[in-house]
Amino acid sequence: MTETSYTMQQLAGILNPVNFVPKPQSRVNQLLIDSRKVMDPEHALFFAVKAQRDGHEFIADAYAVGVRKFVISDPEWQNRFPEASFLIVPDVITALQQIAAAHRSVFKIPVIGITGSNGKTIVKEWLAQLLNADYKIVRSPKSFNSQIGVPLSVWQMNSGHTLGIFEAGISKTGEMAKLAGVMQPTIGILTNLGEAHAEGFSGKPEKLSEKLRLFDHTDLFIYSPDYTSDLPKKNLPGSTKFSWSFNQSADLQIIDMRQERAGTILDALYQGKTVSVYLPFKDRASLENGVICWSVLLALGYEPAIVKSKLSELVPVNMRLSLKNGINQCSIIDDSYSADTSSLAIALDFLKLQKQHTKKTVILSDLHETGRADAELYAEIAAMLSQKKISRLIGIGPHIKSVAELFDLETVFFDSTADFIAAFPQLHFSQETILVKGARKFGFEQISKLLTQKVHDTIMEIDLNAIAHNLRYYQTQLSPGVKLMAMVKAFSYGSGSFEIANLLQYHQVDYLTVAYADEGIALRKAGITLSIMVMSPEPSAFEAMLQYKLEPELYSFEILNAFIAFLPQEQKHYPVHLKVDTGMHRLGFEEPDLPVLLELLNATGKLRVISAFSHLAGSEDELHEEFTLGQIERFKAFAAVLRKELGYDFIRHICNTSAITRYPDAQFEMVRLGIGMYGFDSGKSDTSDLQIVAKLKTTVTQVKRIAPGETVGYGRRGILPQGGQIATVKIGYADGYRRSFGNGIGMMLVNGKPARTIGTIAMDMCMLDVTGIDVHTDDEVIVFNDELTIAHLAAQIGTIPYEILTNISQRVKRIYFYE
Ligand SMILES: *Cc1c(COP(=O)(O)O)cnc(C)c1O
Repeated sequence: MTETSYTMQQLAGILNPVNFVPKPQSRVNQLLIDSRKVMDPEHALFFAVKAQRDGHEFIADAYAVGVRKFVISDPEWQNRFPEASFLIVPDVITALQQIAAAHRSVFKIPVIGITGSNGKTIVKEWLAQLLNADYKIVRSPKSFNSQIGVPLSVWQMNSGHTLGIFEAGISKTGEMAKLAGVMQPTIGILTNLGEAHAEGFSGKPEKLSEKLRLFDHTDLFIYSPDYTSDLPKKNLPGSTKFSWSFNQSADLQIIDMRQERAGTILDALYQGKTVSVYLPFKDRASLENGVICWSVLLALGYEPAIVKSKLSELVPVNMRLSLKNGINQCSIIDDSYSADTSSLAIALDFLKLQKQHTKKTVILSDLHETGRADAELYAEIAAMLSQKKISRLIGIGPHIKSVAELFDLETVFFDSTADFIAAFPQLHFSQETILVKGARKFGFEQISKLLTQKVHDTIMEIDLNAIAHNLRYYQTQLSPGVKLMAMVKAFSYGSGSFEIANLLQYHQVDYLTVAYADEGIALRKAGITLSIMVMSPEPSAFEAMLQYKLEPELYSFEILNAFIAFLPQEQKHYPVHLKVDTGMHRLGFEEPDLPVLLELLNATGKLRVISAFSHLAGSEDELHEEFTLGQIERFKAFAAVLRKELGYDFIRHICNTSAITRYPDAQFEMVRLGIGMYGFDSGKSDTSDLQIVAKLKTTVTQVKRIAPGETVGYGRRGILPQGGQIATVKIGYADGYRRSFGNGIGMMLVNGKPARTIGTIAMDMCMLDVTGIDVHTDDEVIVFNDELTIAHLAAQIGTIPYEILTNISQRVKRIYFYE
């Protein structure tokens, strides 16, 4: 009854490495894939997985923080780290899967395996909610469902568990059989099946058969015939089957649905009788997921009446952490997902990447993990907190309080959330980053509310995972060795400052670029240590730039001379970037300037040209291809002279977002990624590789009926000839919702339904025509999201996504989400 633990010798017995195993008795408790996520270095085993980056390159990072055990496939690495032990295998991911599969085989408990195109994670989380009272459950953390995520999930199994619930996701043929070997599910669930082309399969039958490989050895299979029509029923897995459908005959056939209160009542035929349940949801996806859970409980033999009562209590799953501004300049990370060590580890990683405050506080409730005694569980948590250098722990609950002596950092304990709230004023939260993480019954949303500034009702939500995804997409488009400069000018295109920079720093971009020195200073003050280029270095800011190690873009003789004159006599090799004008005709040196430029640069030892770059005027448009190629050639020639005459090398860069994929030969030593990080690339006809990052939402302040002939708003321009209903919403041109969206040009989504603007947009609010829509005060209104896109808004008023994004004013609160 303890956390999973194996000796190196046992692991070698599973893997049969090609080499002799040193230190056979040393123990492994953590399987580590990412060197930044070390919790217990002494007992971690690092897998050098080859993915977008080769994991072998991170052995040194892991070694530096104390990891001494590694699984590798390139034997030459073993000689560089004298104190480390290596297991050398042909394929590192396969080794990870072999270890997990061997661990899985130890346990004779039922395991529910879930796959399908959508809904895997929700179904898994809901089944855990529904079965929690009757089983001791181990489940995949969040949406860990990949070739790596499944083995890490299975590794958590221990002898206290009585049920496993794991999900599996694949992107190509051959992968599922491997996951089946790791997970060994006894009960299988296929949630649904989406379009094949979106997931990299040749067709639906191939995709279906491949997904079903997970269930080759299951006893019970739960599915909908709506998604399995490509296979005869006899070819479906499982000695027992249970089917559900909204459309056709099935073991559980939904025959009627009607909305009631905040949810939906569903009637179904089951064993010849009509049964009904209430699900506290209205949207189609949740109802389908709910019906799957209903089917699972019936198939497991639960009485329909019991299932009914359990289903009515389902709660939404929120897997994302959110980051917001709090009181007294605090940053608040809110994590209400689940109170266990694996999700605490994820939250602590996110806390660690926040550099804006050195002080870090964790507010944590009692945790509970099946099969583990408090002393052991909290000792592990104490080690995690000290590993992540947390400054203060506020523990809430009798269990965590009873093991107070385990924690060697500043601590405060309370018996209950109410006690904490009573003591709140004495806790003096100020200029710190605070993680709030509690089990549901502790009601930590009250704590978040106290810590968070009152939020203006118009909010821009930024999906940090989507930014990371887009960044990775462009990283995969780079030739080997090409560096990446991330453009975070103008408040990261309206998305944020240190919040975005922290993420980019964590994902190891090479450079950041801001427009003005003060943007760079703000990043430095928030703990950003990456090199930062400043595009418009004003002489008044030179002093501060030196102080904060900001590197100027020098684009003219005036600014070059001013900077040289400013630098102290003894200054050597201050890093600078030269801007070359090859046709944009905005800023930069031109070809005829070269002789004087070289003379100046060679005469001073104060500067070092770190990079030279130029900017393309029409990289997104095929129309300008010839011109763009000309720009690239002129730049190349300019840089060649510069290199020859300076006598040293520097980084050359010219590609902005669109050019990265359209002109891959012009990537030189670095590219500058801007709008692509935020999910737009006007040079691409198909942007399905990119994810939408921002969502802007507001709320309804008032709903009014308008009689025929009455007018709406300033200038009386809004007219509803037949009369109707309007809603006033809390966004206006001062928030960045431009006046040109007025009078029916712009559209928002009110309770999911499109509603056009009516009348003129005012400073702080505007009106929507909501005739025929069911709408009430405080209802949510979407200004843009992944459905109603910024690209669409831009087209409505004849501008570009850059302008829509950067216009959103600072008074609109940003909330950052991370999973
Ligand atoms: C803003 C900017 C970029 C980024 O352009 P995107 O089209 O957003 O990728 C690149 N280089 C310079 C000089 C810029 O000013």
